[in-house]
Amino acid sequence: FKYVYSFNEGSKEMKSLLGGKGANLAEMTKIGLPVPPGFTITTESCIDYYENNKTIKQEIVNQIEEKLSSLEKDLNKQLGSEENPLLVSVRSGAVISMPGMMDTILNLGLNDNTVKALAKATDNDRFAYDSYRRFIQMFSDVAMEVPKYKFENVLDKYKEENNFKFDTDLTCDHLKSIVEEYKGIYKKEVGEDFPQDPKKQLMLSVEAVFRSWNNPRAIIYRRLNDIPNDLGTAVNIQSMVFGNMGDTSGTGVAFTRDPATGENKLLGEYLINAQGEDVVAGIRTPEPIATLEKVMPEIYKQFIDTVKTLENHYKDMQDVEFTIEKGRLFFLQTRNGKRTAASAINVAVDLVEEGLITKEEAIMRVEPKQLDQLLHPKFEDKALKEATVLAKGLPASPGAGSGKIYFTAEEAVEASKNGEKVILVRQETSPEDIEGMICSQGILTARGGMTSHAAVVARGMGKCCVAGCGEIKVDEIAKEVRKDNLVLREGDFISIDGSTGIVYLGDVAKTKVSMTGNFEKLMDWVDEVRDMKVRTNADNPRDSKAAVDFGAEGIGLCRTEHMFFDEDRIPAVRKMILSNTVEDRVEALDKLLPMQQQDFVDIYKVMGDRPVNIRLLDPPLHEFLPHDDETIEELAKDMNIQASEIKKRIVDLAEFNPMLGHRGCRLAVTYPEIAVMQTKAIINAAIEVNKEGLNMEPEIMIPLVGALNEFKVVKNIIVETANAIIEESNIDLKYTVGTMIEIPRACLIADEIAREADFFSFGTNDLTQMTFGYSRDDAGKFLGQYVDEEILEKDPFQVLDQNGVGKLVKMATTLAREEKGDNIKLGICGEHGGDPTSVEFCYNTGLNYVSCSPYRVPIARLAAAQATI
Ligand code: ADP
Ligand code: MG
Ligand code: MG
Repeated sequence: FKYVYSFNEGSKEMKSLLGGKGANLAEMTKIGLPVPPGFTITTESCIDYYENNKTIKQEIVNQIEEKLSSLEKDLNKQLGSEENPLLVSVRSGAVISMPGMMDTILNLGLNDNTVKALAKATDNDRFAYDSYRRFIQMFSDVAMEVPKYKFENVLDKYKEENNFKFDTDLTCDHLKSIVEEYKGIYKKEVGEDFPQDPKKQLMLSVEAVFRSWNNPRAIIYRRLNDIPNDLGTAVNIQSMVFGNMGDTSGTGVAFTRDPATGENKLLGEYLINAQGEDVVAGIRTPEPIATLEKVMPEIYKQFIDTVKTLENHYKDMQDVEFTIEKGRLFFLQTRNGKRTAASAINVAVDLVEEGLITKEEAIMRVEPKQLDQLLHPKFEDKALKEATVLAKGLPASPGAGSGKIYFTAEEAVEASKNGEKVILVRQETSPEDIEGMICSQGILTARGGMTSHAAVVARGMGKCCVAGCGEIKVDEIAKEVRKDNLVLREGDFISIDGSTGIVYLGDVAKTKVSMTGNFEKLMDWVDEVRDMKVRTNADNPRDSKAAVDFGAEGIGLCRTEHMFFDEDRIPAVRKMILSNTVEDRVEALDKLLPMQQQDFVDIYKVMGDRPVNIRLLDPPLHEFLPHDDETIEELAKDMNIQASEIKKRIVDLAEFNPMLGHRGCRLAVTYPEIAVMQTKAIINAAIEVNKEGLNMEPEIMIPLVGALNEFKVVKNIIVETANAIIEESNIDLKYTVGTMIEIPRACLIADEIAREADFFSFGTNDLTQMTFGYSRDDAGKFLGQYVDEEILEKDPFQVLDQNGVGKLVKMATTLAREEKGDNIKLGICGEHGGDPTSVEFCYNTGLNYVSCSPYRVPIARLAAAQATI
């Protein structure tokens, strides 16, 4: 069985076996790019390691040694040789790239003897000892878990003592003593001497990479990004090239297009005389890639040509890592670059226009969830003009965010749990900060460039981020941000603009966004391929308008109860509920009728000829009643009754299980007057707008039906009321009556209901609640733990539970279609209507539309198009 592949044996198609990095190293080798040779230990070996009680079995060890020998032969160098030592890097490489999650060890193969040989072979003592001290630190940290700072403290001590600013200032003698001190640290921490046998170094490192698959950072990242836990990681062993050999050497990273905006312009950074992670670690400030043209014109040209080749080959924006060794360019990594939603759209549309990909491919390139970033507010122009600028840093990840300053990830998490909006402010971030970043509105760092950890991770999350804001001092110990004489403390409000890099004092107002340019173009393509409709859940003209602007093709759920809470009508609603006789109730309802009717007129006008689905009153009545004494007194006076009477009524209406109580169609059955009033409002409003030229055909939805007769009784009320009005009006108004399917029993008898109903709308919020028996309002207490402990894969209120709740949806759909074919309209209006995987499920189930909140309409459109492709 083959566990190890040379770079020249693989290809980019072999990602699941070789990991992303390994597959792309193989691909670059295959197309003839300058890649230092090496080999990849497969993900299957990692899985085997875990299945084998965390040991690497002999067969795999043998294959590693075989590949190592041929590498040694090819390069005419040997691991551990005291004449011509081979040095390698050990690099993890998961199937799906996980930036910063797993650590790389460089310069492996150095020991007290080979370092001398390296010095001699390269005629560069300083370089050799610089490499050795780096290796000891990386090996100790990554393979043996000796904390990095113990080594960094030593390095800092030397720099301080000698008044050096940069580590490049250290002399060879310094580095030699640093190496000795490092070995001392190792011995003290690990309890044995630093391993001098390179083979032992290698195997310990390989094992460390396997182990790192299950470090907490990696686990969190996988959870956040829906990456399965059983993929395993590959390990790449690659011969070293050295960027730290002096002024004609260097190392860098670049994106072939701008990962923030998508602009077709190379964006990157490099450092002369540096190795590996120096660029992203923010130790020295890197140079922008454009300056390489002056410093090394030929290398620059070769670089530009090569990345163009890579883009054309991969047909996508690439994120590359490179090293220059004494005037020779090497590529160490390429991958499809992570990008913001704006960049994803612009790159995808540009690539179509450049003829590299099709429209369908472009649609598949943009992740629906990512659109969220574009659909979120920016700062208001006016508010920005009035805002006080604190400082300016790098625009590392676009968007606007405001919140209270917190200096550590833990405190940020704590504060956000208490409902505070948080801006995480750090000197620079590291993978330990991930959870703090997740819960923040945005991230501000004082150090680090456009490719720093904070910048890369924030862009991936779609969080706004200002990085490298050197004008401010971040004192994490004193918990202060200082700028000149100004001091901000923990809990003070700031606002950051990740598109401009500007940091403002206070909480700056934000605006809505709109879809223009390439976004619009892509969404047009989306609509060309999509064949499932997308509606919105909206119950006022403002939300309806926003949804239409985002491309909603109708309202899938208009919740009428929201209108009952408005200040001008809640007294009438309360009177209606508190009435003791039908006459009194009708009188109160008569007051509500014109108001509700006007609501519908306003919504219809916004929606034009798009369908509008209106649900009759759903929540338990006591939700509308006052609870404080003052309001009760007022209401009593107004109604000319005793306050005690009202209190008694409130007690009467209270329920043990309101969600399972007197609500939904049960209200219409017991208080038909309410359904009558609402039907009048819906129908009158439609007649009114149709007289003005619209062609509104309202859909009237009965909630919470579980028995056929419930539906029939309420439908009769609606039909009688509606037909009487229509007849009188002399207008030929069409309307339909259907039901929300949100009780498991309704799914079970969907064929019976389908015979009577014009449409079904799956109310998957309640359906999930009732199928699981989890109260929506209380499940938060345990669902988090359920997901953490993988008792449930996902929160079923966010992502439709396809195996359970979904099965009910499928079953009801099949029963309804068997009964009525295409003569029944089927949709979904739960929260799931805007969740991409759930949208795909709805498409595959054969629903006619999904309905979601206005801001998720574009997400649902894109997800629906992707499901079609
Ligand atoms: P990550 O996945 O965190 O980016 P990498 O395995 O890509 O880690 O390694 C980080 C950096 O280390 C690379 O960008 C490169 O600069 C350096 N590096 C890795 N392998 C080699 C090598 N064989 N020769 C020179 N530099 C290397
Ligand atoms: Mg790394
Ligand atoms: Mg890398």
